[in-house]
Amino acid sequence: MRSLERLPRELKPFERELLLWVLPKERTGYAKYRKLIETWPVAAVGRRGEGNYILAEAGWNVDIESPLPQLFAYGVVEHEQGTLTISILERSGGQLEFEMEGVADRAAVANLRQIRKWSFSEWLPSQLCPSCRSSVREIRMTTTASQTLVLVLCGRDRRIWVYDGQSGVNSLIPVTGFYNELMLQTGIHDPKVALDPNRLFQIPGAQSESQLIRAFSSYNRLRNKVVLEGDLIMAGERKPNWIRRTVASLAGKKKQTRQR
Ligand SMILES: [Zn+2]
Repeated sequence: MRSLERLPRELKPFERELLLWVLPKERTGYAKYRKLIETWPVAAVGRRGEGNYILAEAGWNVDIESPLPQLFAYGVVEHEQGTLTISILERSGGQLEFEMEGVADRAAVANLRQIRKWSFSEWLPSQLCPSCRSSVREIRMTTTASQTLVLVLCGRDRRIWVYDGQSGVNSLIPVTGFYNELMLQTGIHDPKVALDPNRLFQIPGAQSESQLIRAFSSYNRLRNKVVLEGDLIMAGERKPNWIRRTVASLAGKKKQTRQR
C-alpha cells in the first residue's frame, strides 16, 4: 500500500538517529553514508511500502524498478513491544534506500523500553556474533599491500561478513552468491552439494581457509564489497616474515581481548 505522506520530506528525528546508529561514527568507512543520511531528503517510498524509503539527491530520478542493491548495514532494536529492524542498502547512484520494520508505531520507539540493541556494523575481530552471541569462524586475510581483513561466518545465523581493518566497515556478504563462488573455486558440480549453501554452516571447518579466501576473492571481484589494496595472500602460500609477525601479534591481541 502506498503511503499518503507528502514527499520529499526531511528524515524524522527517530529515523535519522536509528540510521546513523547503524553507521558508527568512529569507523571511518561509514562516513560517506552518514553524510548521505544527513543531507539527502526522503524522496520516495520503496516497493515494500511504508517504512521502506529512498533518500535521493536533488534532481535525481528515483528508480524502484531495478534489482534491489545489496544490504550495506543492518541493526536490530528489541523492545518490550517488539523488534525493530533497520536495513540500509548499498548506495545506487543518487539514491539510498532504507527500511525499518517490525514495530507498527515506529515514531513511538524512542519512548519504549529497550531490551537489547545490536548491529553488524559494531562487530570487531575476536568478538562474538552481535546477533546470536555465539562464537563465529574468523579467517584472517592480508593483502600484498598489508591491508588486513577478516572473513566472518556465523553458523547459527547463516551470515557471512567481512571486516576491513582500515575502514572499520563490516560488509555483509550474501550467502548464496558467496557459496556459488566457493563451488566454482572447488570445482564441485554435484547438485546435492553445489545447490545447498546451508552446507557451508552445517559442517564447520569443512572448507579450508584457503578455499574460503579464494571464494571471497572471486566474489569480491564480482561485487566489489571491499576495495582491496594489493592482492589477497592465499593461505598456504609462503608469507614474508613481516606478515607472519603481524599475524602473530594479531593472535596475541586476540588472546588479551578474550582474557578481559
Ligand atoms: Zn550469529
